[in-house]
Amino acid sequence: MAGLCRALGRGPEATHWAQLSTAIRRVLDHQPRTPWSLVRRSLDGQGLLGVRDSELLDRVRRADHDEIAHMLRRLPAGARALIRQGLHPLRHRVADEDVLLDADLERHLATDLVDALLPEGPEDALVPLGRAWMQAKQARKELSAAAGAPDDWHMVGGLRRTDPVSPDVALLAVTGDPEGWTRRAAGALPRDTLVVAGARAVAVAADPEPIVVHALPATAVPTSLVWYTGPRTHVRDVKARAQALGLDFTREALLEGGRAVALADEADFYARLQLPFIPVELRARAGILDTAVAGGLPTLLDVSDIRGDLHMHTVYSDGRDSVAGMVHAARALGYRYMAITDHSPTSRASRVLTIERIAEQAGEIAAVRALVPDITILHGIECDIQEDGTLDVPDAVLERLDIVLASMHESYGHSPARILQRYERVVRHPLVNVITHPANRSPGRQPGYALAFARLFEEAARTGTAVEIDGAPGHLDLDAPLAEMAAAIGAPILVDSDCHMADRLGRQMRFGVGLARRAGLTKDQVLNTREVGAITAFVAAKRHGRPWQP
Ligand SMILES: [Zn+2]
Ligand SMILES: [Zn+2]
Repeated sequence: MAGLCRALGRGPEATHWAQLSTAIRRVLDHQPRTPWSLVRRSLDGQGLLGVRDSELLDRVRRADHDEIAHMLRRLPAGARALIRQGLHPLRHRVADEDVLLDADLERHLATDLVDALLPEGPEDALVPLGRAWMQAKQARKELSAAAGAPDDWHMVGGLRRTDPVSPDVALLAVTGDPEGWTRRAAGALPRDTLVVAGARAVAVAADPEPIVVHALPATAVPTSLVWYTGPRTHVRDVKARAQALGLDFTREALLEGGRAVALADEADFYARLQLPFIPVELRARAGILDTAVAGGLPTLLDVSDIRGDLHMHTVYSDGRDSVAGMVHAARALGYRYMAITDHSPTSRASRVLTIERIAEQAGEIAAVRALVPDITILHGIECDIQEDGTLDVPDAVLERLDIVLASMHESYGHSPARILQRYERVVRHPLVNVITHPANRSPGRQPGYALAFARLFEEAARTGTAVEIDGAPGHLDLDAPLAEMAAAIGAPILVDSDCHMADRLGRQMRFGVGLARRAGLTKDQVLNTREVGAITAFVAAKRHGRPWQP
């Protein structure tokens, strides 16, 4: 670690660690088997060891994962990016002499030691999905401008797995000349944008973690996709499987007797290991290889299975676009139906729908329906669940709408038990069809309610009320394992975008579908993979007190 700081750091923190590292090395060079207590005494004697460092070093020596994560966070951004991505060390001078790495580091990166030490838990996760997506998009644009557009781009890591929060953001740039492309990118990027450059990788500054872009030839794509999509546990398991079959799985190739096996794509790679393709969203699961070998992988929900989106906002509340704008976006995605569901009067959204405006909106929707007959436009609302579990819109108004969503935007500081009571009351309301973003979490900021969710899902199943998987980056809720629990209990499930901008309708649905896939959900378990008749029947069943048959 200290070696990295010396190689990369410019701040006082790095200098401090470099001094520590040198001091430790001096002791160990002299007497390699010096006990830690003596090393410590020596550091203390030199006044190098502050209380904080002393504690940190003690904990790191025990290789406790949380502490390593903590320590990683204190490293300069460039060093973190390098460690996380296991970058190849630099082989040429790029942009700045400070980024040259030493042979010691090279040895470290060549081993799996670094990988083995690195946690990939929530403790280490820093970049929320929505931000990761925007940054990746921006990096692609900037790098294409700087170095020329590569033949292809791939998102990897948590971004590809639809992890709500990832430790980092990484991309693959496919090009016939990886070194040349990297050199051009590193040379053209502004100095404050380029964090570090390797022979075949650049790290671009972003908040809070740099984006690492690996350049590679097309032949390396099948193995690199698996390697960099991760997570590390999966890579390790796959590596072991390859080894058992007499193969060597590296980032760049699958080797047999030292020669690269020709692979068409990622699926071909798994096939060569006698495995079916393992969906990226399931790769973090423990025992997924065994499941795959046993033929137990589900056929997951796919974006193309979605027939309609039942949660979105317009200028009638805090959305950016008009009803017509959202309708055109939904049509462009090939949806057969959609619901306009703006926020109700007491919501804390920046703009809300008053009772009078609901009638006005009904008129506007009717006008758009006449113009665009090939998509069914449902008129709905996203009601706020009040402190006592009632809704903020009278039943007489709700009855005239096609679908009613209910949300908890305000917890009033209630205990989980009280929140559950409010949910149970609202789920029993005959006019409520969907509980949106049930855990009310915000990735990277709010963990969400710690409710007895099984009770909510049982009540939802009993009353024919759907629970939602919300693809808005600020929610990403329900996520696995809650969505998995809801499905197992038999609660109806919707995947929605909760979109506030027409041009993000597709992206947020993708996020929602990604979450459903993380939960292992299939097409049959998601209500809005069916035609609109199934949706209207679902709403009607509850309104008339009939049991809903999936
Ligand atoms: Zn909401
Ligand atoms: Zn909403």
